[in-house]
Amino acid sequence: MTERIFYVKPSITQREIEAAGFAALDGWGSNSNLYIDKFEKIFAEVIGVPFAIATSSCTGALELGLAALGIGPGDEVILADTNWVATLAPIVHRGATPVFVDILCDTWCLDPNQVAASITPKTKAIVATHLYGNLADLDRLSAIAKKFNLYLIEDSAEAIGSFYHGAHAGTIGDFGVFSFHGSKTVTTGEGGMLVTSDVNLAKRVRQLNNHGRSTEEKKQFFSAELGYKFKMSNLQAAIGVAQMERFDELVFRKREILDIYRERLSEFEAIQINPIQPGCTSGAWMPNVTFSKDSRVTRELLMDAFRRDNIDARVFFWPLTSMNLHGISQRVSPNSDSIASRSINLPSYHDMNSVEIDRVVNVLVRLATVG
Ligand SMILES: *Cc1c(COP(=O)(O)O)cnc(C)c1O
Repeated sequence: MTERIFYVKPSITQREIEAAGFAALDGWGSNSNLYIDKFEKIFAEVIGVPFAIATSSCTGALELGLAALGIGPGDEVILADTNWVATLAPIVHRGATPVFVDILCDTWCLDPNQVAASITPKTKAIVATHLYGNLADLDRLSAIAKKFNLYLIEDSAEAIGSFYHGAHAGTIGDFGVFSFHGSKTVTTGEGGMLVTSDVNLAKRVRQLNNHGRSTEEKKQFFSAELGYKFKMSNLQAAIGVAQMERFDELVFRKREILDIYRERLSEFEAIQINPIQPGCTSGAWMPNVTFSKDSRVTRELLMDAFRRDNIDARVFFWPLTSMNLHGISQRVSPNSDSIASRSINLPSYHDMNSVEIDRVVNVLVRLATVG
């Protein structure tokens, strides 16, 4: 049997191992926030944003941000039906109402026309997810948000290393969130980051993430409000610093792998790989191929073929409204349905070698040529 090809694996070097060791030795007492502070600083610098707040997960960062903006019961929040469930859960947990729109076939991100058409007097925010490192149409979404006085939130969990007209994903909306889950390009095992240019929002998020304790409060253990505790640990942050020091290298290799797939598959009309978007650079978190409708190659066929070759098969996200969650049943998303039914994510990790890439490409070529 050939060796299994995993769809993702983190890139952990001596640098991360030493960083974790140092933090385990000295990251206590007066140093108990040292690596968290360093991680927030290097992240803000590399991404190009004034404020960055480390969290225990991206899901937690999103909930904190929504809470800091005062989004709750009676408010509507617009998001794409194609999404990881982590984008939806905090909206529902805040008591707000999710409103789903379809994705565009050429970006796999939410359709601005449908966003505009979904706005009601209750709408408070748009959550734009930059799917697989592709970029949502931030110019149009910003204009819509401005016109209707809505918050624009960027779920950039999959978009580290992605740039929109020169600005890093996550830095354009009112706030952006990132994930350092073990599957992501930059990882701390679990972890997240909220970034913003708004000093007051940053302050508000920090207070909420510290059980509602104000930095101005003189009394110990005295909360100004009920908050949250979605903090990152110093140990994880130390690994995060080491990963961010390797940011260029980590992103470069992800892009390189996507480019190799793109080149090797370019001659097959039946296969669409992550779209190239004018003015944008993708961080290439997740290569994904979508077969044309004519090809009759389905998600199930792709899953079977990958499994037979001992390659991890990971489906394109199911439309959230197809899961029967929390009484959510709105069905408006022909593109989300259709693309998911003909797609598969391709393995991509830093240490992937050319033999492994060949094996993945060969499975796809076989499917594209049998017709
Ligand atoms: C990974 C991911 C998240 C959640 O990140 P966690 O750190 O696991 O909470 C949120 N949104 C999207 C689009 C993701 O891909």
